Amino acid sequence: MPERQRSQGAAAKTLTKRRDRKAARPAEVMELLREEQGPLVWRRRYEPVDELVVTILSQHTSDLNAERSYAVLKLAYSTWDAVADASLEEIEAAIRGSGLARQKAPRIRETLRKIRELRGALDLEFLRDLPLGDAKRWLTALPGVGPKTAAVLLCFAMGMPAMAVDTHVYRVARRLGLIGPKVSVERAHPLLEQAVAPGEVYSFHLYLITHGRRVCQARRPRCEACVLSAICPSSTVR
Ligand code: SF4
Repeated sequence: MPERQRSQGAAAKTLTKRRDRKAARPAEVMELLREEQGPLVWRRRYEPVDELVVTILSQHTSDLNAERSYAVLKLAYSTWDAVADASLEEIEAAIRGSGLARQKAPRIRETLRKIRELRGALDLEFLRDLPLGDAKRWLTALPGVGPKTAAVLLCFAMGMPAMAVDTHVYRVARRLGLIGPKVSVERAHPLLEQAVAPGEVYSFHLYLITHGRRVCQARRPRCEACVLSAICPSSTVR
């Protein structure tokens, strides 16, 4: 077969493949979002117990509200032991800005007390020495700690390759076909975590969150401005 005909055949095959593709490939998603958002380097946000408290505070509210309440709590109490020993009314008053303070105050106090009971101190650095699965199991056995909170703590405070799936990550991953439409948010955690190399999990999480906030928004995805539209099975502009 002449060279020109052969290369046209290959190009047509590639195009057909792309058109038929049901789901975007994680590696392509990573590459395109890295090009758009730039490379990321892991850095610790908070100490592990602090990260845990901030994550509980951030449930059903904005990051800004959670960070403000965390700052008020840190100003009011010099140690986490003092929070664990405080009355619920006092904790509730300190975190009022985060919303749902009546639910969050007992959750925070109970979690802190349980860590102290199990470890003898409010220190979670030991988790770094455990295999990832064991660290997750230990954390999710705590009251009020689900897979997302555990993954946030392990990823952001420990630099471990745990994938946290929040509402943005879940939505974007489903639209891209990285997970099936019937996959639960709990099941999405291990599936997305295994979709990329361990060293990429931190960036994968942040790229998808940022993309969900800026472009692939819940009510109106901006497919016309999306760098993933050529590989996204949900794109409205192909
Ligand atoms: S093409 Fe549209 S649906 Fe797909 S990721 Fe981009 S914004 Fe979301």
